[in-house]
Amino acid sequence: MRIPDPVIDDVRAASDIVEVVSSTVRLKKRGKSYLGLCPFHTEKTPSFTVSPDKQMFHCFGCGTGGNVFTFLMKVEKVTFPDAVRVLAERAGIALPQQGGRDQDSVHEPLFDACRRAAMFYHDALHRTPEGGLALDYFHGRGFSDETIRTFGLGCSPNSWDGFLRFAQQEGMTTVVLEKAGLAVRRDDGSGFYDRFRGRAMFPILSTTGRTIGFGARKLRLDDPLAKYVNSPETPIYEKSKVLYGLSQTKEAIRADEAALLVEGYADFLSLYQAGIQNVVASSGTALTDDQIRLISRYATSIVLVYDADSAGSKAMMRGVDLIIGHGLEVSVVQLPEGEDPDSFIRKRGADAFVVLVKEARNFLDFKVDQFRSAGLLGSPEGQTRAIRSIVGTIATMNDELRRNLYIKHLAEKHGIYETVLFRELERQLAPAKGSGPARRGDPPARADDERAQEERMPLVERDLLRVMLEHGPDIINLVREEIASEGFTTTTGSSLYAILLKRAENDLPWDPSRLPDEIQDEVMRDLVTDLLFVRDEISKGWEARDSAPEEVDPRRLAAGLLDRRRRDQLDREIAANQEQLKAASARGEDLREYLLKHQELLKLRHHALKSAVNP
Ligand SMILES: [Zn+2]
Repeated sequence: MRIPDPVIDDVRAASDIVEVVSSTVRLKKRGKSYLGLCPFHTEKTPSFTVSPDKQMFHCFGCGTGGNVFTFLMKVEKVTFPDAVRVLAERAGIALPQQGGRDQDSVHEPLFDACRRAAMFYHDALHRTPEGGLALDYFHGRGFSDETIRTFGLGCSPNSWDGFLRFAQQEGMTTVVLEKAGLAVRRDDGSGFYDRFRGRAMFPILSTTGRTIGFGARKLRLDDPLAKYVNSPETPIYEKSKVLYGLSQTKEAIRADEAALLVEGYADFLSLYQAGIQNVVASSGTALTDDQIRLISRYATSIVLVYDADSAGSKAMMRGVDLIIGHGLEVSVVQLPEGEDPDSFIRKRGADAFVVLVKEARNFLDFKVDQFRSAGLLGSPEGQTRAIRSIVGTIATMNDELRRNLYIKHLAEKHGIYETVLFRELERQLAPAKGSGPARRGDPPARADDERAQEERMPLVERDLLRVMLEHGPDIINLVREEIASEGFTTTTGSSLYAILLKRAENDLPWDPSRLPDEIQDEVMRDLVTDLLFVRDEISKGWEARDSAPEEVDPRRLAAGLLDRRRRDQLDREIAANQEQLKAASARGEDLREYLLKHQELLKLRHHALKSAVNP
């Protein structure tokens, strides 16, 4: 079922792009626009621009652009109707529900199955024998009933088809249940069984708060499977890109600009319940680049709070390097021997934990301590290894000032000669120079061929497309008199022109921010914002020089561009004719035909020049 255009327009009007983007990207005002770190490629200096006037965004780093719907589609990986739906919900606009909801999104049935599974598991707490065990476990960890409700904790019945039977009664198909990771096909192919049996269930939510998977902890001693079983990767659940709890804590993290990162569901819930709410858990995977990128949308620093055991220390050593590589600050909370965040809070309380976070060590001291307790600092070889590793971490920082500060800190605090450290730093930085490795921060290579082609678009055509985009039907109709529908040099240019021609035919008020909705092709969509945002960059230069450019009449501008295009075309024809003349002369042929054509082209060009001077 298609959402009617007027409703889409209502949702668009009610959804300010700056507000919507702000819920995932930290934006700072700069001039008339807002600037932030691009969520679509890794960068350390912001080039992601949002314009409240245009109601569009554009990244000068990777070229991605679009309107408020495009943004949501890309960030949440949803379809256009889903993006409209999410924003409608946000704005309190009711959408027509005509039963066709499921057809709009291929993934919608999976979201729906996970949502209903979460409700089923939660209800099961109070009506199955497993429920008693699960409640005992939750209460034993100190979770209140409110926490159990807030995070939708539950339990899966200890049977092979408890959930399956419920799901089939509710009309969910086994195809969907298997795809959503809730049911498993029997080895002999004869049917399906429940993936989660007799376990405490932790629903995992997307950043926007939809259930996408589950973590399941064992409850019975005779359960032969691992302590934790998680949902497999599904089309809606990519483990490496999800952080447990983020949908509930992102606002607290943004307010603090810092995120506490813990390992497990229970750690997360204990902290949250104790009132420490700027926390997320990397449950189910070792920390990934995507997860750090996700946190960097909300925070500038990460505090690692892992178990005080050797596995936890190893994981933190690795985490420190990854996080530094993303340009975030990182520090490490050291729990007393044998404790995890959950047990610490239960024994010592939230206040003691807050003190621990305040005393978090910077990553250098943490690493030095780790090497010291491993006995490495006792021998010259061990020291060399330790220094290499620590300086290696510092070398991944992009900021020279920051690198130098850390080297000085390391030298002063741990009594290592500064010169030794700087020499090692130079050695580690040297190979990266010139060899041009794909360092973080490079724009991703996408649709390279098309992009390369787009770059071949003549400047005059880019300018023409820009004037048409900015000023609408008036100018488009002026250009139409001269340029046929396939008349642009590149396919992207011609296709965009075709869309503009079509758009100019209806009477709607001109609004370029609608265009991204009609454009499926990513390269073309990015071209639209590229054209529209470049002018701002130019006028910013003018602002800086304190003399704004004169407002040029768009009709004059377009006419001038068409003249230039005509002249360019004639120049090309003249050059081509001269080539042919040369070739004919070399073959000893009659040159009259070429000479006549030359005269004629020169006349046309002279005429074109005159009309350009005197429009
Ligand atoms: Zn970007």
